[in-house]
Amino acid sequence: MVATVASKRGLTPYEEVNLFFDQAAERLKLPDGMREMLRRPWRELRVQVPVRMDDGNVKVFTGYRVQHNAARGPYKGGVRYHPLADLEEVRALASLMTWKTALMDLPYGGSKGGVQVDPALLSNSELNRLTRRYTNAIQHLIAPNRDIPAPDLGTNAQTMAWMMDAYGAIHGYTPAIVTGKPVELGGSLGRDAATGRGVSCILEQAAKDFGLDLSKTRVVVQGFGNVGSWTARLLHEMGCRIVAVSDVQGGVRNARGLDIPTLFEHHRRAGGFEGFPGTEAVTNEELLELECDVLIPAAIDNVITGRNAPRIKTRLLLEAANHPTTPEADAIFNDRGIPVLPDILCNAGGVTVSYFEWTQNLQEFKWEEERVNTELRKMMTRAYQSVYQRATAEGITYRQAAFEIGVQRVARAVELRGFV
Ligand code: NAD
Repeated sequence: MVATVASKRGLTPYEEVNLFFDQAAERLKLPDGMREMLRRPWRELRVQVPVRMDDGNVKVFTGYRVQHNAARGPYKGGVRYHPLADLEEVRALASLMTWKTALMDLPYGGSKGGVQVDPALLSNSELNRLTRRYTNAIQHLIAPNRDIPAPDLGTNAQTMAWMMDAYGAIHGYTPAIVTGKPVELGGSLGRDAATGRGVSCILEQAAKDFGLDLSKTRVVVQGFGNVGSWTARLLHEMGCRIVAVSDVQGGVRNARGLDIPTLFEHHRRAGGFEGFPGTEAVTNEELLELECDVLIPAAIDNVITGRNAPRIKTRLLLEAANHPTTPEADAIFNDRGIPVLPDILCNAGGVTVSYFEWTQNLQEFKWEEERVNTELRKMMTRAYQSVYQRATAEGITYRQAAFEIGVQRVARAVELRGFV
């Protein structure tokens, strides 16, 4: 039913995420006014980002910051640099952050930022100037107790260092303004690996419930950036057999399992997988349809659709990317009895360690990496169990359960604040 509506109307990413929200609101019997208030972003900003390019010309990019909901705490959300980062995509990602931080029980709301740019086409100094202009353009909306950006697709710790510096030039030294910073500038130990580590915690728990022996589990990972490469490395350490990985240019496979640490070094040095011995090349389309036990999309949105979902041959889908599965594909997985562990659960390790980083900055105190990883594991396990138990008790999907928990918590905070 959801599938038909989504595909016929050609919904935007934001409308697609709202289908998941609407299902939760309906089951929770939220009054119409509350639904309306929770569905729509509270504040949206579109900015112009002019940049002096290295050749002397000026190029003008478009940037966004969408603040979806702050009932449970300051807005929190990454900044994405991608050619398709338009307002509808940023809205979708901002709303996912609201439900994710609530599901993890973090004292945050949800937001997201984006600049429509292909970072691969800019030099380092152009990216530095672009980041400073974007930060200047949104600086009046962000603050450590108001909205805290972090890295996402196409941005990294260096981008956060530039943002912190640009913000600090106006407001004074403020490390808690962004998370995901370099450790030397107040970043948290363990933040770089956190999203991938969170994914590995979820698979460790799920293996028990879905009868997977990790030493025999064949895993396919799409995306080899921050999330994908850490996920592959940590699952390899846990004994899983990583049979295929990819980046934007395509991927490699080996049914006997890839030597991930060596492959990671090769990819870092060569900038791609080409020339890595003992592997066969695959396209990203082929990779998603390879036979495996666990499929982990860890790159971009909307890669699993009504078109390829019927051909996907996995026992379990773990969403490490945000919104990789359309509602149509989600319904197909449900019909085929393939469990989907949703993005707002699987990739929540990043925002959880961002929360640890923010608290360390506010307290001017540094945690050891072991403490970060132990606390992360506790929080991921607790969230997984709450989702698994609710889904099992109510006979609903894991996505529906995760959304219900998140939406219920945000609705309760709105009620308690009494601002309507
Ligand atoms: P990244 O920029 O570090 O890496 C992205 C990877 O995806 C790269 O390997 C890139 O080559 C690949 N890629 C890009 N376009 C592709 C395409 N069309 N097909 C196949 N591969 C493609 O980004 P990241 O931080 O690893 O983020 C990946 C996903 O995880 C995004 O959906 C992001 O929103 C989500 N996420 C990231 C974090 C985080 O902490 N970085 C936290 C939560 C969720």
